[in-house]
Amino acid sequence: MHEMSLCEGVLQIIESEAKVQNFTKVKRVILEVGALAGVEIPALEFSFEVVMRGSIAEGAVLQINEVDAQAWCMQCAESVVVKERYDACPECGSYQLQVSGGDEMKIKELEVD
Ligand SMILES: [Zn+2]
Repeated sequence: MHEMSLCEGVLQIIESEAKVQNFTKVKRVILEVGALAGVEIPALEFSFEVVMRGSIAEGAVLQINEVDAQAWCMQCAESVVVKERYDACPECGSYQLQVSGGDEMKIKELEVD
């Protein structure tokens, strides 16, 4: 379950931010999860709770924003929205797509004390 290591990465970022910004409690964590990030939301929620236990983010509310993935269509020569990695272009049906975004997970916002 790679959601666990993703959450460990999040905690590392939170802890280093805490040192820089001098906060001691995290109230809310907003994560942006791309449609192609391969993240299972329930697993992410579970991992978050486990990993944050005993840290400054224990009990923090986890908010997950799912974002559409973007791909570049060679045929249309423009950026289109895709739901899955091997989707065809919604405009022209071509499979010559290059994913250009939405394949990652990142921290969007931290609400802290
Ligand atoms: Zn296209």
